[in-house]
Amino acid sequence: MTSRLSLSRLSVVSAGLAAILYLSGNSIAHADTAAPNVTILHCPALIDTVSGKLLGKTSVVIEGERVQKLVPDFISQDGATLVELAGQTCMPGLIDAHTHISGQISPTVYMDRLTKHEATWTLRSTVFAQRTLLAGFTTIRNLGDTNYETVALRDSINGGWVTGPRIYTAGPAIGTTGGHADPSTGLRYDLQDRPGEDASIINGPDQAWAAVREHFKQGVNVIKIMSTGGVLDLGDNADHVEMTEDEIRAVVTAAKDYGFVVGVHAHSAEGIRRAIVGGVDSIEHGTYMDDADIKLMKEHGTWYVPTVYTGQYVAEIAKTPGKLPPQVAAKALEVGPHIFQTLGNAIKAGVKIAYGTDAGVYPHGDNWKDFPLLVKAGMQPIDAIRTATVNAAKLLRKDKELGDVSAGKYADVVAVPGNPLDDIELMGKVSFVMKAGVVYKQDSKPVFHLSTSN
Ligand SMILES: [Zn+2]
Repeated sequence: MTSRLSLSRLSVVSAGLAAILYLSGNSIAHADTAAPNVTILHCPALIDTVSGKLLGKTSVVIEGERVQKLVPDFISQDGATLVELAGQTCMPGLIDAHTHISGQISPTVYMDRLTKHEATWTLRSTVFAQRTLLAGFTTIRNLGDTNYETVALRDSINGGWVTGPRIYTAGPAIGTTGGHADPSTGLRYDLQDRPGEDASIINGPDQAWAAVREHFKQGVNVIKIMSTGGVLDLGDNADHVEMTEDEIRAVVTAAKDYGFVVGVHAHSAEGIRRAIVGGVDSIEHGTYMDDADIKLMKEHGTWYVPTVYTGQYVAEIAKTPGKLPPQVAAKALEVGPHIFQTLGNAIKAGVKIAYGTDAGVYPHGDNWKDFPLLVKAGMQPIDAIRTATVNAAKLLRKDKELGDVSAGKYADVVAVPGNPLDDIELMGKVSFVMKAGVVYKQDSKPVFHLSTSN
C-alpha cells in the first residue's frame, strides 16, 4: 500500500514554505539540509489508545508511510517538514469496521439498482471514499457490495488513482435464498436469480465453501454473512433465522483457510447464537441480543459491532412517508431504537466492542455519529475512541499496523480542535487527516493531490 504522493514529496515543493515557518515560529531553521522523507507533527496532546491516556506535547516523527518515533516535546530535525497542530488533539486514524462504501440510501435506491450502470455506482463510490477519509476514517471494513465493485475501489485507492481510506472489503455478503443477502429478494419472479446463479447465495455447507472460495478468487479481504433477515431489503424479516449452524461453521472453516475475518449481520437472538457457536469474529447490529448471547460472546471472545447511529437514522426517516418503502419503514421503526438498548446491555456486561456504523445506510462522512451514542449508552469517551482504533484494529487482525500512533505503525493520524475526552461531539469536527504519511486535510480544509500514478 504505497502512496505515490507521500508527504515527503510534498515536502520537496514546500521546503521553502517550511523554512519560512521555521523562521517565524521557531528559532531553529535547518531547511536546507537533506532529509526529505521525514515529517514531524507537533501535537499539543495525543491520545494513547493503548494505555487509554492523554499524552501532552508530543512530536510524531514520520518517515515515509510509517511512524518512526514519538518524542515527548516539540522537536525539529534537519530537512524535516513540520506540521503544527496548535490547539488540536491528535489520535490514530479512525477505523469504521462496518461500511457500505459503494451505496447510499436515497428515495430512489431500490429503482437505481435496476437502472444505473455498475460503473456509475463505482465512480460515485470514489466521492463517498473521499468524504469518509476527510471525516478522519483512514481505514474501513466494507461489509457488503453488489458485484465486487469495492474490490476495484480498494485497488484504485491503493494504486494512487483515487483518494480514500484503506479498505478491507468483503465483496458481496454471503447468505441463503430469499434472505437478506439475496439481491433479488422482493423482485418479481422473472427478475429473480435462480438457485445456483449467484455465487454469494448458498444453501448447505458445500455451497458455503464454494462461496468463500469464489470470494477469495475475486480478491476480498474479509467475509460477511447474513444469519438473519434485515431491515432494508424488500422481502424478509429481521426476526427470521436464515442460516443453519452448519452453514455458518462451513463459512468460518473455509474462511480460516484464507485468513479471512468473518462478520455476521444478525438481529434475532437465535441468529446471533448460531453465529457465535459457529465461530464468527463479530456480530453486526445484534439488535435482539439476549443475556444468553451476551454470555456466549464473552466465552467465545466474539466482538460486537453495534451500528447504533444507523438504527436511529432509519427509524427517524421511516417517520416521513415516502422516504422508505412501507414494509421497510415498518421494520426500521421496530429495529432501530432497540439497538441502543442492546448496546447499553453489552457495555455493562463488558462485551468487546469495535466501532462500525453501517455507513451508506446514512450519508457517508457522518461516520463519527456513533461516538456520542456510545458515550450516551454508558462508555467513557476514551473507550469510545478506543473502539474505533485499537479495538477495530484487533478485530481486523491488523493491530500490528493500525490502531495506535507508535513506532513502526502506519502514519495514520487525525486531529480535532480541542479535547474530545471533554466533548465527544468534537469527533465530528476533524481538522487534520494523515493516512500513511500523506496529509489529506489540514486546518479543516481538504488537501488536494493530483495523482501521478499510471
Ligand atoms: Zn450493513
